[in-house]
Amino acid sequence: MPEDRERRRGRFPGGAWGAPRAWLVAGLIACLPAAHGSALRIDEAPTGPLGLRAGLLQETGAELGIEAAIGLAREGRFAPGTEAVPAFGIAARPVWLHLAFDNSAGESVARRVVAGTAWIDRLDAYLVRDGGVVARWHAGDSDTRLQRPEPGLGYVFDHRFEPGGTELFLRAATPDPLVLPVRLLVPGDARAHERWIHYSYGWLYGYLIALIAYNALLFAGLRARSYLHYSLYLGCFVVTNLAYTGHGYALLWTDWPGVQRYVILALMVLFGVAGLRFATVFLELDRLAPDTARTARLFSWAGLGLLGLAMLAGEQGIAALVAFSFVMAFTIAMVGLGLLGLRLRQESAHYFLAAALCAMVGAACTTLAVWGVLPFTTLAYRAVEVGVLLEATLLALALAYQIRLHRRARMTAEQLANTDPLTGLLNRRAFIEQGERLWSVARRKRRPMALVLLDLDRFKAINDVYGHAAGDHALEETARVLRDACRLGDLVGRWGGEEFILLLPETEIAQAMTFAERLRQRIAGRQPDIGGRVLQLSASLGVAGRESQGSLQALIADADAQLYQAKADGRDRVRGPGGPPAGRPG
Ligand code: GH3
Ligand code: MG
Ligand code: MG
Repeated sequence: MPEDRERRRGRFPGGAWGAPRAWLVAGLIACLPAAHGSALRIDEAPTGPLGLRAGLLQETGAELGIEAAIGLAREGRFAPGTEAVPAFGIAARPVWLHLAFDNSAGESVARRVVAGTAWIDRLDAYLVRDGGVVARWHAGDSDTRLQRPEPGLGYVFDHRFEPGGTELFLRAATPDPLVLPVRLLVPGDARAHERWIHYSYGWLYGYLIALIAYNALLFAGLRARSYLHYSLYLGCFVVTNLAYTGHGYALLWTDWPGVQRYVILALMVLFGVAGLRFATVFLELDRLAPDTARTARLFSWAGLGLLGLAMLAGEQGIAALVAFSFVMAFTIAMVGLGLLGLRLRQESAHYFLAAALCAMVGAACTTLAVWGVLPFTTLAYRAVEVGVLLEATLLALALAYQIRLHRRARMTAEQLANTDPLTGLLNRRAFIEQGERLWSVARRKRRPMALVLLDLDRFKAINDVYGHAAGDHALEETARVLRDACRLGDLVGRWGGEEFILLLPETEIAQAMTFAERLRQRIAGRQPDIGGRVLQLSASLGVAGRESQGSLQALIADADAQLYQAKADGRDRVRGPGGPPAGRPG
């Protein structure tokens, strides 16, 4: 039978969608010694997976019973294992695994068999001595009457092996990816192994749940949607991981094997959907790349729809194929979106890309290992956890980086909103806002304060004769003169077109008059050069003091009246209520 010859060479037809790894390693197999057949000494058994010492047989027709399996093993119909952890792909036919042990210790020894993955629907284990079954376990997650999987470990069978030979027969059946690691552990090693597994999951969930809670709080506080979507995305990962490691069935939907049947696949798809949603919000794709955002939405709906159809039709194998393909495509899409973000010059896209790459490598390793394409090692199986931890950390940094960028943008916007773009001085609104504050301090503490209003003379003519650009230049020059003359704590603003305003705390009216006179002289002396022609500037100034006024508005109105007087008196002069200039300190 050609199929038998294939089997003996270690090739398996695999499931409907095959175990591609069997093909990949086909070349290597010929070189490996056929270890199957020689019994494994129980006291020397390695702690790692024993697939290379096992014989394997895949059912082709009706379900085989244990007697039939023993018979086929005697006939040499089991093919030697070619990988430490045999994998058969999605929707594979049920598989029998055979291992022979030899206890030469002279007394019975306790050992623990740890086999399979927590999502295997049905796992039957038989220990056989002298052709008769001495112990049997019926395990699986498809019926509550079956022995349950141990979260994070798989299925656990404890037994005391009597002296002499004992054979282990395992029958595994599941439409989900069929991988069959088998270990034989000394009770002490088994406990250490278990402890390490449980600690590692505790640490993983603790870290991720802390990040989820923190980002949910950030969303509650900042109302930025990306934090919410990030929390949901991480939450989906945690629940997916709880589901496929068996923690969900052990702790959450304990009595619902019907849920267990599809929950892993449904959560895998939801994880991808949540990831795409997060990417869309985080990279602002709705605004920056609406076509891509629409494609991501379509892709999500397609994944959900196909999975829903497969579930409705009761096709667990097709549902598994949809879920695994969706997750693979999703991880690649995330990297693509990261690259798009970079091209769109999206802030913090580099963080996103690095994060997506970590997650992609991790998820791809795990998916391909479970699918049977890559060797199923602990590292490959748990790669998605490492990848997601790195991804979560990088994305948390990215969200923090966005806060920094937003704060910087807000500060810039605030500054822009407060300043006059031509001169860089305070605009009218900001001057009033800050002036009111200084005013109330001066009034409370009964301190002197003065205000100067300055208007360039015949400015319309300057524009008319020299052009608008020259007028602008003159305004900038005037602003420079005012800024240079002011003390720290004075406010200088542009009040209108060619009108400027100065609020001078701790300044008596007489000092302010002298100051205004100095300003007048400096402006008149500036004479800016406009394309070879000298521009003769002059200004009129009105001065008012706080003592005579009850509000900042009244003070300004008073200075305006003085300015009007200066204009009326012939321009290029200072007018105010004070006496002769007395000089201003500082
Ligand atoms: P007066 O001595 O009575 O103040 O005469 P004036 O010409 O300076 O006064 P008026 O208020 O009639 O004209 C002000 C001019 O200032 C008119 C306007 O075109 C000009 N102006 C206002 N804002 C700007 C600006 O930002 N740039 C330039 N180049 N000109 C401006
Ligand atoms: Mg003027
Ligand atoms: Mg004017």
